[in-house]
Amino acid sequence: MNNSLPDTRTSALSNMVYAAWERTVLATNSRRLGGSIIGETCPRKIWLSFRWVRKANFDGRMLRLFSAGMIEEARVETDLKKCGLEVHMGPEPGKQFEFTDETGHIVGKIDGVLLGVPEAPKTWHLLEVKTHNTRSFQDLLARGVKESKPMHWAQMQVYMRLADLERFLYYAVCKDTDEIYTERGSLDKQAADTLIERARQIIDSVKQPRMTTGDDEECKKCAFKPVCWGESFPDVNCRTCIHSSVVNGGGWKCQLKGKDLSVDEQVDACSSHVFSPDMVNAFPINGDYEGTSIQYEVRSGGTFINGEGGFPSKELVQLTLRGAIIRAAQKIKDKFPNAVVEK
Ligand code: SF4
Ligand code: SF4
Repeated sequence: MNNSLPDTRTSALSNMVYAAWERTVLATNSRRLGGSIIGETCPRKIWLSFRWVRKANFDGRMLRLFSAGMIEEARVETDLKKCGLEVHMGPEPGKQFEFTDETGHIVGKIDGVLLGVPEAPKTWHLLEVKTHNTRSFQDLLARGVKESKPMHWAQMQVYMRLADLERFLYYAVCKDTDEIYTERGSLDKQAADTLIERARQIIDSVKQPRMTTGDDEECKKCAFKPVCWGESFPDVNCRTCIHSSVVNGGGWKCQLKGKDLSVDEQVDACSSHVFSPDMVNAFPINGDYEGTSIQYEVRSGGTFINGEGGFPSKELVQLTLRGAIIRAAQKIKDKFPNAVVEK
Protein backbone atom coordinates (compact mmCIF):
# COMPACT_ATOMS: atom_id res chain seq x y z
CA MET A 1 0.00 0.00 0.00
CA ASN A 2 1.29 3.43 -0.88
CA ASN A 3 1.09 5.70 2.17
CA SER A 4 2.44 8.83 0.49
CA LEU A 5 0.18 11.87 0.19
CA PRO A 6 -1.58 12.35 -3.13
CA ASP A 7 0.35 14.63 -5.47
CA THR A 8 -2.84 16.63 -6.16
CA ARG A 9 -2.50 18.18 -2.70
CA THR A 10 -2.37 21.97 -3.14
CA SER A 11 -2.02 24.99 -0.94
CA ALA A 12 -3.25 27.35 -3.67
CA LEU A 13 -6.89 27.29 -2.61
CA SER A 14 -6.16 27.65 1.10
CA ASN A 15 -3.90 30.61 0.29
CA MET A 16 -6.71 32.14 -1.78
CA VAL A 17 -9.10 31.80 1.19
CA TYR A 18 -6.58 33.47 3.54
CA ALA A 19 -5.96 36.28 1.03
CA ALA A 20 -9.71 36.82 0.64
CA TRP A 21 -10.02 37.20 4.41
CA GLU A 22 -7.20 39.76 4.52
CA ARG A 23 -8.74 41.83 1.75
CA THR A 24 -12.24 41.67 3.24
CA VAL A 25 -11.03 42.73 6.67
CA LEU A 26 -8.95 45.56 5.22
CA ALA A 27 -11.90 46.84 3.23
CA THR A 28 -14.45 46.58 6.03
CA ASN A 29 -13.27 46.39 9.64
CA SER A 30 -10.14 48.50 9.27
CA ARG A 31 -11.72 51.10 7.01
CA ARG A 32 -12.37 53.19 10.10
CA LEU A 33 -11.01 53.11 13.60
CA GLY A 34 -12.87 50.41 15.52
CA GLY A 35 -13.48 50.29 19.24
CA SER A 36 -11.39 47.14 19.50
CA ILE A 37 -8.17 49.05 18.81
CA ILE A 38 -9.00 52.39 20.44
CA GLY A 39 -8.12 50.97 23.87
CA GLU A 40 -4.60 50.00 22.78
CA THR A 41 -2.00 51.38 25.15
CA CYS A 42 0.34 52.36 22.31
CA PRO A 43 -1.07 55.35 20.37
CA ARG A 44 1.42 54.71 17.61
CA LYS A 45 -0.10 51.30 16.99
CA ILE A 46 -3.51 52.94 16.56
CA TRP A 47 -2.04 55.46 14.09
CA LEU A 48 -0.23 52.77 12.08
CA SER A 49 -3.34 50.62 12.00
CA PHE A 50 -5.58 53.48 10.83
CA ARG A 51 -3.08 54.32 8.09
CA TRP A 52 -2.87 50.73 6.83
CA VAL A 53 0.86 50.61 7.28
CA ARG A 54 0.53 46.85 7.46
CA LYS A 55 -2.13 45.08 5.34
CA ALA A 56 -3.89 43.45 8.27
CA ASN A 57 -2.94 43.06 11.89
CA PHE A 58 -3.20 39.31 11.41
CA ASP A 59 -2.85 36.99 8.47
CA GLY A 60 -5.86 35.41 6.80
CA ARG A 61 -5.63 32.21 8.84
CA MET A 62 -5.76 34.15 12.12
CA LEU A 63 -8.58 36.36 10.86
CA ARG A 64 -10.58 33.28 9.96
CA LEU A 65 -9.87 31.84 13.41
CA PHE A 66 -11.09 35.04 15.06
CA SER A 67 -14.30 34.89 13.07
CA ALA A 68 -15.19 31.85 15.18
CA GLY A 69 -16.38 34.47 17.70
CA MET A 70 -19.19 35.38 15.30
CA ILE A 71 -20.44 31.80 15.47
CA GLU A 72 -20.42 32.07 19.26
CA GLU A 73 -22.54 35.23 19.07
CA ALA A 74 -25.34 33.29 17.37
CA ARG A 75 -25.25 30.67 20.15
CA VAL A 76 -25.35 33.39 22.81
CA GLU A 77 -28.36 35.00 21.15
CA THR A 78 -30.21 31.67 21.22
CA ASP A 79 -29.28 31.06 24.88
CA LEU A 80 -30.40 34.51 26.01
CA LYS A 81 -33.68 34.27 24.15
CA LYS A 82 -34.31 30.87 25.75
CA CYS A 83 -34.00 32.66 29.11
CA GLY A 84 -36.70 35.13 28.07
CA LEU A 85 -34.48 38.15 27.38
CA GLU A 86 -35.18 40.53 24.52
CA VAL A 87 -32.09 40.44 22.30
CA HIS A 88 -31.30 42.35 19.10
CA MET A 89 -28.03 41.54 17.34
CA GLY A 90 -28.51 43.98 14.45
CA PRO A 91 -31.02 45.91 12.36
CA GLU A 92 -31.56 42.82 10.19
CA PRO A 93 -30.22 39.23 10.16
CA GLY A 94 -26.51 39.12 9.34
CA LYS A 95 -25.98 42.86 9.98
CA GLN A 96 -24.51 44.51 13.04
CA PHE A 97 -25.66 47.76 14.63
CA GLU A 98 -23.07 50.37 13.67
CA PHE A 99 -22.44 53.74 15.30
CA THR A 100 -19.95 56.43 14.30
CA ASP A 101 -18.68 59.64 15.87
CA GLU A 102 -19.03 63.07 14.21
CA THR A 103 -15.88 62.61 12.12
CA GLY A 104 -17.18 59.35 10.66
CA HIS A 105 -13.77 57.77 11.23
CA ILE A 106 -14.48 56.16 14.61
CA VAL A 107 -16.88 53.27 14.41
CA GLY A 108 -18.52 50.97 16.91
CA LYS A 109 -19.94 47.72 15.55
CA ILE A 110 -21.67 46.25 18.53
CA ASP A 111 -22.55 42.59 19.14
CA GLY A 112 -26.07 43.51 20.22
CA VAL A 113 -28.39 45.11 22.76
CA LEU A 114 -30.53 43.33 25.29
CA LEU A 115 -33.31 43.88 27.79
CA GLY A 116 -34.26 41.66 30.73
CA VAL A 117 -30.95 41.20 32.57
CA PRO A 118 -32.15 39.88 35.99
CA GLU A 119 -30.41 42.59 38.06
CA ALA A 120 -31.93 45.44 35.99
CA PRO A 121 -34.68 44.00 33.77
CA LYS A 122 -35.90 47.34 32.41
CA THR A 123 -32.49 48.72 31.37
CA TRP A 124 -31.10 48.30 27.89
CA HIS A 125 -27.60 46.82 27.97
CA LEU A 126 -24.86 46.75 25.39
CA LEU A 127 -23.97 43.10 24.70
CA GLU A 128 -20.32 42.20 24.17
CA VAL A 129 -19.51 38.55 23.49
CA LYS A 130 -15.94 37.28 23.78
CA THR A 131 -14.42 33.83 23.67
CA HIS A 132 -11.37 32.94 25.79
CA ASN A 133 -8.97 30.08 26.24
CA THR A 134 -8.82 28.51 29.71
CA ARG A 135 -5.94 30.67 30.96
CA SER A 136 -7.54 33.90 29.87
CA PHE A 137 -10.93 32.79 31.23
CA GLN A 138 -9.51 31.94 34.65
CA ASP A 139 -7.84 35.34 34.84
CA LEU A 140 -11.13 36.98 33.91
CA LEU A 141 -12.92 35.09 36.71
CA ALA A 142 -10.27 36.18 39.19
CA ARG A 143 -9.97 39.87 38.25
CA GLY A 144 -13.06 40.94 36.28
CA VAL A 145 -13.13 42.51 32.83
CA LYS A 146 -11.68 45.95 33.63
CA GLU A 147 -8.52 44.54 35.20
CA SER A 148 -8.18 41.35 33.18
CA LYS A 149 -9.18 42.64 29.73
CA PRO A 150 -8.72 46.43 29.74
CA MET A 151 -9.01 46.62 25.96
CA HIS A 152 -12.40 44.91 26.03
CA TRP A 153 -13.50 47.27 28.79
CA ALA A 154 -12.32 50.29 26.78
CA GLN A 155 -14.06 48.97 23.68
CA MET A 156 -17.36 48.71 25.58
CA GLN A 157 -16.95 52.23 26.99
CA VAL A 158 -16.51 53.69 23.50
CA TYR A 159 -19.40 51.62 22.13
CA MET A 160 -21.74 52.71 24.94
CA ARG A 161 -20.84 56.36 24.35
CA LEU A 162 -21.42 56.10 20.60
CA ALA A 163 -24.64 54.11 21.02
CA ASP A 164 -25.94 56.26 23.89
CA LEU A 165 -26.18 53.34 26.33
CA GLU A 166 -25.21 53.35 30.01
CA ARG A 167 -24.89 49.67 30.92
CA PHE A 168 -23.03 46.74 29.44
CA LEU A 169 -23.24 42.98 29.76
CA TYR A 170 -19.92 41.27 29.07
CA TYR A 171 -20.62 37.68 28.06
CA ALA A 172 -17.52 35.51 28.08
CA VAL A 173 -17.33 31.89 26.95
CA CYS A 174 -14.41 29.54 27.62
CA LYS A 175 -13.62 27.87 24.27
CA ASP A 176 -12.15 24.80 25.98
CA THR A 177 -14.94 24.03 28.47
CA ASP A 178 -17.94 26.10 27.26
CA GLU A 179 -18.20 27.64 30.73
CA ILE A 180 -19.92 31.03 30.77
CA TYR A 181 -19.04 34.17 32.73
CA THR A 182 -21.19 37.31 32.64
CA GLU A 183 -20.46 40.69 34.14
CA ARG A 184 -22.54 43.87 34.23
CA GLY A 185 -20.95 47.29 34.21
CA SER A 186 -21.64 50.99 33.71
CA LEU A 187 -20.58 53.73 31.37
CA ASP A 188 -17.57 55.70 32.62
CA LYS A 189 -18.30 58.85 30.64
CA GLN A 190 -14.99 60.49 31.35
CA ALA A 191 -12.99 57.43 30.35
CA ALA A 192 -15.03 57.00 27.16
CA ASP A 193 -14.64 60.67 26.18
CA THR A 194 -10.89 60.53 26.83
CA LEU A 195 -10.55 57.46 24.62
CA ILE A 196 -12.58 59.04 21.81
CA GLU A 197 -10.66 62.33 22.03
CA ARG A 198 -7.33 60.51 21.90
CA ALA A 199 -8.51 58.57 18.84
CA ARG A 200 -9.56 61.80 17.10
CA GLN A 201 -6.17 63.35 17.68
CA ILE A 202 -4.51 60.24 16.26
CA ILE A 203 -6.76 60.34 13.19
CA ASP A 204 -5.99 64.03 12.57
CA SER A 205 -2.26 63.69 13.02
CA VAL A 206 -0.19 63.46 9.83
CA LYS A 207 2.80 62.53 11.96
CA GLN A 208 3.03 59.26 13.81
CA PRO A 209 2.88 59.51 17.60
CA ARG A 210 6.09 58.91 19.50
CA MET A 211 6.88 55.40 20.70
CA THR A 212 5.52 55.57 24.20
CA THR A 213 5.12 51.96 25.22
CA GLY A 214 8.76 51.40 26.11
CA ASP A 215 7.64 47.84 26.61
CA ASP A 216 9.61 45.42 24.48
CA GLU A 217 7.15 42.60 25.16
CA GLU A 218 4.35 44.69 23.66
CA CYS A 219 6.53 45.53 20.64
CA LYS A 220 7.65 41.92 20.12
CA LYS A 221 4.12 40.76 19.37
CA CYS A 222 3.13 43.91 17.46
CA ALA A 223 2.39 43.45 13.74
CA PHE A 224 3.66 46.98 13.02
CA LYS A 225 7.11 46.47 14.53
CA PRO A 226 9.02 46.15 11.22
CA VAL A 227 7.83 49.59 10.10
CA CYS A 228 7.70 51.17 13.55
CA TRP A 229 11.27 50.13 14.30
CA GLY A 230 12.42 51.28 10.88
CA GLU A 231 13.38 47.94 9.32
CA SER A 232 10.81 47.88 6.50
CA PHE A 233 8.89 50.18 4.22
CA PRO A 234 5.15 50.42 4.87
CA ASP A 235 2.65 48.65 2.60
CA VAL A 236 1.65 50.40 -0.62
CA ASN A 237 -1.89 51.79 -0.49
CA CYS A 238 -3.37 55.28 -0.59
CA ARG A 239 -3.18 55.74 3.15
CA THR A 240 0.59 55.45 3.15
CA CYS A 241 0.86 57.89 0.22
CA ILE A 242 2.00 61.47 0.68
CA HIS A 243 -0.90 62.67 -1.50
CA SER A 244 -3.76 61.28 0.60
CA SER A 245 -5.59 63.05 3.38
CA VAL A 246 -8.36 62.25 5.85
CA VAL A 247 -11.69 63.95 5.17
CA ASN A 248 -14.72 64.28 7.43
CA GLY A 249 -17.46 61.73 7.01
CA GLY A 250 -15.14 58.73 7.16
CA GLY A 251 -13.49 59.27 3.78
CA TRP A 252 -10.06 59.79 2.24
CA LYS A 253 -9.07 62.12 -0.58
CA CYS A 254 -6.24 62.15 -3.12
CA GLN A 255 -4.85 65.70 -3.23
CA LEU A 256 -2.84 64.97 -6.38
CA LYS A 257 -5.89 63.93 -8.38
CA GLY A 258 -8.37 66.06 -6.43
CA LYS A 259 -10.81 63.20 -5.91
CA ASP A 260 -12.38 61.18 -3.12
CA LEU A 261 -11.06 57.65 -2.88
CA SER A 262 -13.22 54.54 -2.66
CA VAL A 263 -12.03 51.75 -0.37
CA ASP A 264 -11.01 49.64 -3.38
CA GLU A 265 -8.99 52.53 -4.82
CA GLN A 266 -7.29 53.01 -1.46
CA VAL A 267 -6.38 49.32 -1.29
CA ASP A 268 -5.00 49.24 -4.84
CA ALA A 269 -3.19 52.64 -4.88
CA CYS A 270 -1.91 53.99 -8.21
CA SER A 271 1.49 54.25 -9.88
CA SER A 272 1.93 57.83 -8.56
CA HIS A 273 2.20 56.52 -5.00
CA VAL A 274 5.00 58.14 -2.99
CA PHE A 275 5.51 57.14 0.64
CA SER A 276 4.60 59.66 3.30
CA PRO A 277 8.09 60.53 4.63
CA ASP A 278 7.02 60.20 8.25
CA MET A 279 6.59 56.46 7.67
CA VAL A 280 10.05 55.95 6.19
CA ASN A 281 13.04 55.45 8.46
CA ALA A 282 15.43 57.68 6.45
CA PHE A 283 16.13 61.42 6.16
CA PRO A 284 14.26 63.21 3.34
CA ILE A 285 16.86 65.45 1.68
CA ASN A 286 14.98 66.55 -1.42
CA GLY A 287 11.31 66.91 -2.35
CA ASP A 288 8.17 68.23 -0.70
CA TYR A 289 4.65 67.21 0.21
CA GLU A 290 3.28 68.33 -3.19
CA GLY A 291 6.00 66.60 -5.18
CA THR A 292 6.03 63.40 -7.13
CA SER A 293 9.33 62.16 -5.71
CA ILE A 294 11.36 62.34 -2.52
CA GLN A 295 15.06 61.68 -2.15
CA TYR A 296 16.23 60.08 1.10
CA GLU A 297 19.48 59.47 2.87
CA VAL A 298 19.59 56.12 4.66
CA ARG A 299 20.89 56.22 8.23
CA SER A 300 23.55 53.62 7.51
CA GLY A 301 24.68 55.37 4.33
CA GLY A 302 23.47 55.74 0.74
CA THR A 303 20.64 57.63 -0.91
CA PHE A 304 17.62 56.65 -2.94
CA ILE A 305 14.68 58.33 -4.65
CA ASN A 306 11.09 57.21 -4.12
CA GLY A 307 8.84 58.20 -7.06
CA GLU A 308 9.63 59.79 -10.41
CA GLY A 309 13.25 59.28 -11.45
CA GLY A 310 13.77 56.62 -8.80
CA PHE A 311 12.10 53.59 -7.26
CA PRO A 312 8.31 53.24 -7.45
CA SER A 313 6.91 52.42 -4.00
CA LYS A 314 5.92 48.93 -5.18
CA GLU A 315 9.60 48.19 -5.83
CA LEU A 316 10.84 49.72 -2.59
CA VAL A 317 8.65 47.44 -0.46
CA GLN A 318 10.69 44.51 -1.78
CA LEU A 319 13.78 45.97 -0.08
CA THR A 320 14.84 46.05 3.54
CA LEU A 321 15.63 49.54 4.77
CA ARG A 322 19.36 48.92 5.21
CA GLY A 323 22.12 50.96 3.68
CA ALA A 324 23.90 48.01 2.05
CA ILE A 325 20.73 46.73 0.40
CA ILE A 326 19.61 50.17 -0.76
CA ARG A 327 23.09 50.95 -2.12
CA ALA A 328 23.19 47.68 -4.06
CA ALA A 329 19.70 48.24 -5.49
CA GLN A 330 20.56 51.84 -6.42
CA LYS A 331 23.72 50.68 -8.20
CA ILE A 332 21.70 48.29 -10.35
CA LYS A 333 19.08 50.97 -10.99
CA ASP A 334 21.79 53.42 -12.10
CA LYS A 335 23.16 50.90 -14.55
CA PHE A 336 19.81 49.52 -15.75
CA PRO A 337 17.17 52.25 -15.21
CA ASN A 338 14.40 50.01 -16.55
CA ALA A 339 15.22 47.14 -14.20
CA VAL A 340 12.38 46.24 -11.83
CA VAL A 341 13.11 45.26 -8.23
CA GLU A 342 11.52 41.95 -7.34
CA LYS A 343 11.65 40.02 -4.12
S1 SF4 B 1 6.23 48.16 17.75
FE1 SF4 B 1 5.90 48.89 19.86
S2 SF4 B 1 6.01 51.14 19.75
FE2 SF4 B 1 5.75 50.35 17.67
S3 SF4 B 1 3.55 50.42 17.29
FE3 SF4 B 1 4.02 48.38 18.03
S4 SF4 B 1 3.74 48.48 20.26
FE4 SF4 B 1 3.85 50.58 19.51
S1 SF4 C 1 -1.44 59.49 -5.81
FE1 SF4 C 1 -2.32 57.47 -6.20
S2 SF4 C 1 -1.68 56.25 -4.43
FE2 SF4 C 1 -1.40 58.41 -3.89
S3 SF4 C 1 -3.30 58.98 -2.84
FE3 SF4 C 1 -3.53 59.52 -5.01
S4 SF4 C 1 -4.53 57.72 -5.90
FE4 SF4 C 1 -3.69 57.07 -3.94
